[in-house]
Amino acid sequence: MTILTSCLTQSDGILVKDMAAFKAATENLSPGDKVILANGIWENAELVFKGIGTEDNPIVLTVEDKGKVFLEGESNLQISGEYIHVEGLVFRNGHTPTGAVVEYRTSSKDFCNNCRMTEIVIDDYNPSERFESDYWVALYGKNNRFDHSYLVGKRNNGVTLAVRLTTPESRENFHRIDHNYFGYHPILGSNGGETLRIGTSHHSLTNSNTLVEDNYFERCNGEHEIISNKSCQNTFRNNTFFECQGTLTMRHGNETLVDNNYFFGNRKANTGGIRIINEKQTVINNYCEGLTGYRFRGALVIMNGVPNSPINRYFQVKDSKAANNIFVDCDYIQFCAGSDEERSATPENTTFTNNLIYNENKDDVFTVYDDISGIDFDGNILSPNIQEPQNNGQLIKDGFTKETISFSTKNGLQLPASTTSIGPAMESERPSSDNTGVSWYPKKDYTINFNYGEKIDVEPGKNSLYNAIKNSKSGDIIVLENGEEYHMTKSIDINHPITVTSSLEGDKPTITFEKSSLFNIENGGALSLKGLLISGIKSDDYSGNNVVRTSRYSMINNYKFFAEDCDFIDLDVNHSFNVLRVFKNTFADSIKLVNCNFKNISGHVLNMDKETDDIGIYNVENVFVKDCHFENVGGAAIHLYRGGRDESTFGPILDLNNSSFKNVGHDIRNKVDAAVSIHGVQLAEMNGLSFEDSKKLNLHLVVGDPVIAVKNTSFKNSEGISSNDPAYTAENIKTVEK
Ligand code: CA
Repeated sequence: MTILTSCLTQSDGILVKDMAAFKAATENLSPGDKVILANGIWENAELVFKGIGTEDNPIVLTVEDKGKVFLEGESNLQISGEYIHVEGLVFRNGHTPTGAVVEYRTSSKDFCNNCRMTEIVIDDYNPSERFESDYWVALYGKNNRFDHSYLVGKRNNGVTLAVRLTTPESRENFHRIDHNYFGYHPILGSNGGETLRIGTSHHSLTNSNTLVEDNYFERCNGEHEIISNKSCQNTFRNNTFFECQGTLTMRHGNETLVDNNYFFGNRKANTGGIRIINEKQTVINNYCEGLTGYRFRGALVIMNGVPNSPINRYFQVKDSKAANNIFVDCDYIQFCAGSDEERSATPENTTFTNNLIYNENKDDVFTVYDDISGIDFDGNILSPNIQEPQNNGQLIKDGFTKETISFSTKNGLQLPASTTSIGPAMESERPSSDNTGVSWYPKKDYTINFNYGEKIDVEPGKNSLYNAIKNSKSGDIIVLENGEEYHMTKSIDINHPITVTSSLEGDKPTITFEKSSLFNIENGGALSLKGLLISGIKSDDYSGNNVVRTSRYSMINNYKFFAEDCDFIDLDVNHSFNVLRVFKNTFADSIKLVNCNFKNISGHVLNMDKETDDIGIYNVENVFVKDCHFENVGGAAIHLYRGGRDESTFGPILDLNNSSFKNVGHDIRNKVDAAVSIHGVQLAEMNGLSFEDSKKLNLHLVVGDPVIAVKNTSFKNSEGISSNDPAYTAENIKTVEK
C-alpha cells in the first residue's frame, strides 16, 4: 500500500506540503479545484498557478491556516487564466527573484482575467541592493481585484503596486484595488518610491479604468508621488492617507475622478494632498487636514504645463475642476506650480468652486506662480484671516467669501456646522488601520528609534565597548564611566539602533581607537552618541580614517546618526581623517549634531556626496546641526550633494543653526573647497553662523525651486557666500576683512 504523505486529498481541496506536491497538484486545474499550502515556511517557492475557472467555480489557492504559511527566501507567485482566487499568502524574510512578488500573469502573453488576490501580506520583503528594482504587486489583464492585503516596508527602487498597461489585453481593465493597508514606506531618496502607479507615461493616453477605493495609506513616504496616476479614466474614491509625505498625483492621463478621500497630515513635514495635471480631472468632496507640504506636495496643487508637451513631460491643465473640498489647517494651495521657462502653459477652462479653506494660523495659504485667469473661482469659503489668491497683483475677490466658521467634530473630522454640502459623504465608512488589510497578521512599526532597550554599564578598558555593543540588543543604551578611557583595537559594527552615552557628570569619557574606523553602521544599524570625547590620537597612521562609516555595501535600510554634547578631536594623525564617511547606495534618514565640538580634523565632518550619477539620488534626507563649533578642519564641515534635475524628492533638507567655523576647508586634498557646501539641497535654513579664516559657504541651486536662506551670519577673513544662482535669501550678512 502506498501512502502519499506530501499530497493528501481532502474533501475540500488538496493539501500540499512541498513544491513537488504543489507542481503535481497544479498541473491540470479545473473549475472548483482548490490547492492548500500546508502550514510552515516555504523557502524559495516560486509558485505558478494557472487555469480556467468559472465565475461560480473559481480555482482556488489558499493556505492551511492564515498566518501560519510563510513564503520566504526567493519566493514569488504568478497567476494566469480566468477566475482564479488566491488568499492568505505571507511573503517575508526574503525578496522576489523576478520582477514582482505577486503578478497577474505567468509570461509576457499569459494574463489573468476576473482573478482575485485577497488577504496577501508582503512584509519588508526586499533585496539587499536599494537600486535593484521590483514591484510587490503587478496587475495585468482585466477585471482583476487586489484587496484586503497588507503591504509594509518596501525599501528598494520600484513601485509597491503597479497596474501595467503594456499590451491591449491589460487596458480598459476595470481592476479594483480596495481595502488594502499600505503601510510604512521609508524615504527612498530617489524617484521610484511610489506606493501605487497606474500606467506609465508611454501608455498615458490609454484608458485604464482602474478603481482604487477604501484603502488606507500610512506614512507612504517613498517620494513625491504616493500615487502616480499615469493613464485615463481611473477613480480614487474613499481612501485615507495618514501622515504620507507626498501627494496623490495625476501625473499623466485624463478624466481622473478623485472623490471623497481623506488626507491627514498631523502637521508632519512634507505631507500633501492632491496634485492636478492634464485634462478633465475631477477633484471633489475630499477632506484634507494638517497638511504642511509646499510646492508639489501642497494640499492642492494645480500645475502649469508644457506647451505641446512631449508625452513624458507636463500636459497643460484643461477642463478640470476642484469642488466641494475641505482644507483645515493646510498650509499651501498652489496654482500654476512648476511655472518656469519650459512649463509656461497656464491652466485653462478650470474651476475651483465651493471649497472651504480654514486656517487660523496662516494667512497666505494660496501661492500663485503664474497667470490664473484660466481658473474660474466661485462659492469658496475662507476663514476671515486668509488672503484670497492674487492674479497679476490683484486679489481675486469674486468667488470667495470670508466667514467665521464654526466647526463640529463628526466622526473625527472638523466639519463646518453651517453647511453639509461640502466635503466627504458621511455615510461611507472611512478607511483606517482597523478596517483594511488583514486581521490575522501583527502590524509592525519600522521607524528607527533609539533608547527603548536596556541600560548597560560598561567598565573602561581595551575593547570593553566593542564587547558590550557586540552583545547588545536593538535599542540598548551603553553607559560609559566619566573621566575614563575606552580604547578600541577593533572596529565596532553597529547592526541595530544603539546609544552610547556617559552619565553626564564630570569629564566626558574618552574613546580612542586604532583601526581605520571606530564605528561601522551596517545595514539595519543606527547610532546615537551622547556626552563623549572621541580622539584620533591613537589611530593608525594611515590616510582616510573615520570615526564612523556606513557599510561599504548597499544598505536597504535607512539609518540615523546622532551626536549630542560630544567632542571629536585630534583626528589628524594623517590626512583625510573624517568624522563620518558614507558610501554609495546608503541613505541616512537623518543626521543630527547638537552642541558638539570638532577640532583638529584633517578630513571632513559630514561629507554626503557619494551619489554622483546626477540622477536625483542622494545620501541623506535631513541634516540638523545646532550649537556646533568646527575648528581647524581640513575638509568641509558639511557637504551635501544631490545632482541632476529630477523633481521627485523632498531632500536633502538642511537645518544649520548657531554654529561657528574657524579655519575650515583649506586642505585641497579634500576637494570640496568650501567650509560648507550644499549642492541640489531642496530646503536649507542657515541662521546664526560665524565663519572665520574659512573657505566659502557654497550654494548650488539646481532644480525644484529650492528654498535656501542664510540669516544673521558673519564672515571674517573668509570667502563668504558663493552661489550659482541669486535665488536664495540672504539676511543680515556681515563681512569683515582682517
Ligand atoms: Ca515618481
